[in-house]
Amino acid sequence: MRRDRSSELFEKAKTYFPGGVNSPVRAFRSVGGTPLFIERGSGSRIWDADGNEFIDYCCSWGPLILGHAHPEVKRRVIKALDYGTSFGAPTALENDLAELIISNHRFIEKIRFVSSGTEAVMSALRLARGITGRSKILKFEGCYHGHTDAMLVKAGSGLVTFGTSSSAGVPEAFAQETIVIPLDSISALNEAFEKHAGQIAAVIIEPIPANNGLLLQSETFLRYLREICTTQNTLLIFDEVISGFRAGFTGAAGLYDIQPDIITFGKIIGGGLPVGAYASSAKNMAHISPEGNVYQAGTLSGNPVAMSAGIAQLSECLKPGFYEELERKTVLLCDGISNHARRKNYPVKMFRTGSIWWIAFTTKEHIRSAGDIDGESMNIFKVLHAELLERGIYLGPSGYEVGFVSSAHTDADIHRTISAFEEALDIACGK
Ligand SMILES: *Cc1c(COP(=O)(O)O)cnc(C)c1O
Repeated sequence: MRRDRSSELFEKAKTYFPGGVNSPVRAFRSVGGTPLFIERGSGSRIWDADGNEFIDYCCSWGPLILGHAHPEVKRRVIKALDYGTSFGAPTALENDLAELIISNHRFIEKIRFVSSGTEAVMSALRLARGITGRSKILKFEGCYHGHTDAMLVKAGSGLVTFGTSSSAGVPEAFAQETIVIPLDSISALNEAFEKHAGQIAAVIIEPIPANNGLLLQSETFLRYLREICTTQNTLLIFDEVISGFRAGFTGAAGLYDIQPDIITFGKIIGGGLPVGAYASSAKNMAHISPEGNVYQAGTLSGNPVAMSAGIAQLSECLKPGFYEELERKTVLLCDGISNHARRKNYPVKMFRTGSIWWIAFTTKEHIRSAGDIDGESMNIFKVLHAELLERGIYLGPSGYEVGFVSSAHTDADIHRTISAFEEALDIACGK
């Protein structure tokens, strides 16, 4: 496969951007080699700058649930562009997207649009602190919540400790306000609430953790989490930036039928344009400025072009059978790969929920916490990733990243992908 043009562009990009990229995981550091520069996408396919064609399972890291350049999204965006790109004043489009979401999402009453998932989380944390008057936030090792200071914190040693910052530039004093515990541990949760009684404003979790492998949680654990937050007067934040509108329209809240106090959104909500949001009860949202005293604002919040893309995409998601069909195709893909691995006795397990899937090189039945992932297995992924690229299959360039099936993927795409996996696994696991 030729990579000349991508290599050339990457060399040039390195003179402009740190590491040659505008977001770190794009740099292919964990799989090695040159990142592919993408020129265009259509449906399930993308083409790189050298003209190579791929079936895409990265889907821009999740937003593109309809695939690339969906005709309805395009039509709406172009129409919006004709009317101007931004006004810094309210537009009817914000009402339209909010109505579409709220009238079909039984877990929220009011919403505030922002421009990214990071911003949604940052604002949700401030809201929780504003409502409770408490300062500590509890998060879980293995969940990603964007790059805000409070969330760039990793566990210290010991089961329940204050976090230490996982990035330079985050003051230790900020990290001290974040408690980090392992997923799937009721005892750690109890210990944290005992140690910090009356101080925890919010617990934030990816109810479907999908940024560090796919760490599907037990329903028992999620229900216990809801319960303890209620009894401790701590707000439960579901970070549904990935799972929102993905695990069904009502996301993980709907899937598990658990009512969180605040939900954050991103990715799918903007139809491929930059949109994030946080939502809650009308009572909680009344704390947000200008109604309340928790300040939060944005020059491009509710941007009309981005709102239009979101309206177009979410309208498609609401069509009958949309999620069932996505899941059917994802099952087809995962079963096809699993069957081959089983026949060949490879230590491969496909984890899946809805249209999110993850390949793990393990013999374990469940992987529910970050500590359950075998770091060594990422060497196998590295080979798999390279071999799949050679065969026209594009996955996110890290074994810790999940894959996404879009409505644009056809059964023929899936079958071709299974064949490519069979060959690539024979090389990656055969060694
Ligand atoms: C992607 C993601 C974020 C960050 O969203 P950005 O739009 O990249 O800032 C936050 N939380 C979760 C669960 C995510 O998957």
